[in-house]
Amino acid sequence: MIAENYRDVKERIQRACEKSGRNPSDVTLIAVSKTKPVEMIREAMEAGAAFFGENKVQELCEKYEVLPKDLHWHMIGHLQRNKVKYVVDKAELIHSVDSIRLAEEISREAVKKEVQANILIEVNVAEEESKFGVRTEDTEELIRKTALLPNVCIRGLMTIAPYVEDPEENRLVFRTLGKLAVDIKKKNIDNVSMDVLSMGMTGDYEVAVEEGATMVRVGTGIFGERSYAL
Ligand SMILES: *Cc1c(COP(=O)(O)O)cnc(C)c1O
Repeated sequence: MIAENYRDVKERIQRACEKSGRNPSDVTLIAVSKTKPVEMIREAMEAGAAFFGENKVQELCEKYEVLPKDLHWHMIGHLQRNKVKYVVDKAELIHSVDSIRLAEEISREAVKKEVQANILIEVNVAEEESKFGVRTEDTEELIRKTALLPNVCIRGLMTIAPYVEDPEENRLVFRTLGKLAVDIKKKNIDNVSMDVLSMGMTGDYEVAVEEGATMVRVGTGIFGERSYAL
């Protein structure tokens, strides 16, 4: 079932690429495996999944330990500064940096561990009060400060769009993030590559791809509904 779902999502991404004149190899599917057991991750791996997204440090570390080392782990959830030290050498990309204090901690730990930390800046494009992320108008300032930190490379932007019934309602959110990335890329800031746009989840990833997403984060569409009850 999971392998089938994964292949179906890949196909839909391919169709969204065709529709918008993009190359499917420019879009990475991050399988969001949070709350799901390693057996389910192994099923997704059989269908070709190699990029996995987690939103809790401890869960990411536990799965990292037991699964093959050639998988790519992405930290997509809100990150507390005191947990940075556990993930900085395990997560290939941290999608959720939204403050200079968090960026400084990532830099400090990356220097200590002698690794390069790849990060995205999380932007609260829709200005939802319940969401993390820097405001659109404050993004460039945060990027300019973060870019000065050692062992940190800003690869692009990430957003979590609102929950909506009709994915078309989020098109403008995705377009705004894409435009912001283009604007910032043009400024040629050192340590800022701006070639990653992480946007789109189960309900709206096709629209996100049409609007230029280079990473989509799909959980429910691959692994089924999550249950948080213990
Ligand atoms: C859980 C989560 C997702 C996946 O959500 P689905 O709707 O299940 O696809 C994507 N991004 C982030 C940041 C998440 O926390």
